[in-house]
Amino acid sequence: MTEPRATSPATTSPVATDLAATGPAAASPAATGPVATDLAATGPAAASPAATGPVGSNPAATNPVGTSRIVTNPATTSPAATDPAATDPADAVPAAGRPIGFIGLGNMGGRIARRLTEAGRAVLGYDPAPGAAEKAGATPAADVAEVTRGADLILLSLPDSRVIESVTYGPDGLLEHARPGQIVVDLSTAAPDSSRRIAEALAARGCAHLDAGVSGGAAAAEKGTLTLMVGGEEHVLDAVRPTLAAFSAKVFHMGPSGTGHSAKLLNNFLNAVSLAATSEVMVAGRKAGLDPRKLLAVLNSSSGANWATANRFPHIIEGDYLEGGLTSTLMIKDVVLYVDHLGALGVPSLNAAGPLASFGLAVNLGYADRISNRVVDAIGDVAGGIRLYDDPTGEEKTS
Ligand code: NAD
Repeated sequence: MTEPRATSPATTSPVATDLAATGPAAASPAATGPVATDLAATGPAAASPAATGPVGSNPAATNPVGTSRIVTNPATTSPAATDPAATDPADAVPAAGRPIGFIGLGNMGGRIARRLTEAGRAVLGYDPAPGAAEKAGATPAADVAEVTRGADLILLSLPDSRVIESVTYGPDGLLEHARPGQIVVDLSTAAPDSSRRIAEALAARGCAHLDAGVSGGAAAAEKGTLTLMVGGEEHVLDAVRPTLAAFSAKVFHMGPSGTGHSAKLLNNFLNAVSLAATSEVMVAGRKAGLDPRKLLAVLNSSSGANWATANRFPHIIEGDYLEGGLTSTLMIKDVVLYVDHLGALGVPSLNAAGPLASFGLAVNLGYADRISNRVVDAIGDVAGGIRLYDDPTGEEKTS
């Protein structure tokens, strides 16, 4: 996959100040180029061996929570914080003991946060759902403001752009409490234009933003094998790679701000098409008198093979719907975002009707908040009550 480099100079980003001392960026030529220049601009810290030396030459360069060393300055919570130049070089020290902030601890966020806490990272989490933070092993925060004040790296996993915007621009939100040097990584599936505007607003406060689409679902989140497609400045991504590695197996830098969420919408559209179409085919096969296991084996050995036939239906035909993953409500949200995105790009979307109708049916038949794999039951319902699996006990399986 092509990974175009960010075009904006690293020296314009305040977060660049910490990079040479941490992780892979230090080993790359880029780290000794513009980033090093930026370090020089921060004064004393830059002149220290820690700032220019090899990775790991200074244990203090990486804080205990495994995040990158980030310049922090308590004074910058004042209005002066909007001026990145106001950052005091004397504060260019590791923020020891600072937790990773996490906003949105649902199906995905909760599992990702759990990966981080199980890896020994402290997480300060906020979710309005009672007990969500505790379930993920995180320290519960009262609100977004507490997370923003208490963390230098903040991860988001929220339902959609409307919620992300309210968390960002709303009273007591991210922007109001942001301070230079903070990094926000948005793991949600969201509208690329909205994510780009948020990145700009945060940049004006001296913060960096990455739009990081996530693929693999709840199962991959639990195993720590998610695929991430990330938009934003590459050196910022390099700074947070050690943290992302706790829950992802592959991380692609897609290009500038917005390209991560764009890639996610394109991928998820194919996911929606293949899940909806395979559901229809499997229900039809059952009604035609075919054995679901044999039909699936044929599909997986033939040109109809896809992600759903390979990874979802082997479980579904045994009565395990893999609950805990993307709901039909969120699947529709993703397809609508895809159609909007293509409209903005001037590309006709000729294939969206199928998944919109299928997942719309699932929502209307009562499967809105169940995993989107339940679309097969929704289609089965209107096909006369077809199920792929006859459970003699009447009990539902879970993986
Ligand atoms: P979810 O509904 O399970 O989780 C969202 C969480 O956000 C909920 O716990 C909710 O209480 C919380 N929330 C809502 N408003 C909030 C606010 N103002 N402040 C803080 N928290 C708030 O959804 P999910 O399945 O975890 O998905 C999260 C995001 O990840 C979505 O954008 C989704 O499209 C994307 N995604 C999901 C999957 C998946 O398989 N579930 C896979 C890839 C991407």
